[in-house]
Amino acid sequence: MSSKRFRGKLCVYCSDRPSVTGDHVFAREFFLPEVRANLPQVPVCDRCNNDKSKLEHYLTALLPFGGRHAHAHENLATQVPGRLAKNQRLARELIAGRGRIWHLEGGIVQPTMTMPIDPHRTCELFAQIGRGLAWYHWGTYLQPGQMSEALFLSNFGREFFARIFSMNAANRVQHNLGKGTVSYSGVQAADTPQLTLWRVHFYGGMVLSGDPQAPNAIATEIAIVTGPKRIVGLLTERPQ
Ligand SMILES: [Zn+2]
Repeated sequence: MSSKRFRGKLCVYCSDRPSVTGDHVFAREFFLPEVRANLPQVPVCDRCNNDKSKLEHYLTALLPFGGRHAHAHENLATQVPGRLAKNQRLARELIAGRGRIWHLEGGIVQPTMTMPIDPHRTCELFAQIGRGLAWYHWGTYLQPGQMSEALFLSNFGREFFARIFSMNAANRVQHNLGKGTVSYSGVQAADTPQLTLWRVHFYGGMVLSGDPQAPNAIATEIAIVTGPKRIVGLLTERPQ
């Protein structure tokens, strides 16, 4: 596909520099080759494209380990080894941090392998994904004084976010990409178009942050909030 239509616009990630190409909001490598058609794309500048690719190199190798969706398992078997072979440092980091936890799922407690996911890099990428989705669906650019933040949703966070999701919205969207590899829903506030909320489900839900002492801390969804800094800060403050 030509990337021409994504050139010479404003970059959706920094709202500052001119775009040079199209960026896949969710990197193509998260998906198996046969389901990569028609993934959302947005205009990106050279700098943001480069920064986002670095995060994607890390997370396309890592996230399939936590997935429950069949494609995550196939991705792990067929795509990830090649990526890790090219990145020995990451391979060693993963092997060193591997662990096992007991995870309650569907009423059954099962042993689950955990991986040392760097929450900062993960949230950084998903914050960018939030900016991409806000533009892709509603043509929204964040303004100075606005930001995007991502966080893992624990059970507590899910209830909290479900309440916010029922807010008075100008727009709502629900999407499924790559046969359920990624599904997400979003709302856009009625009064502030840049205020958007997203819930992203990756690989059928993942065990992203396992604390064996507190099973409720296991997150299976990622939430993203974009908009005015004050509101984003309030919504993404960690619950006590
Ligand atoms: Zn940019």
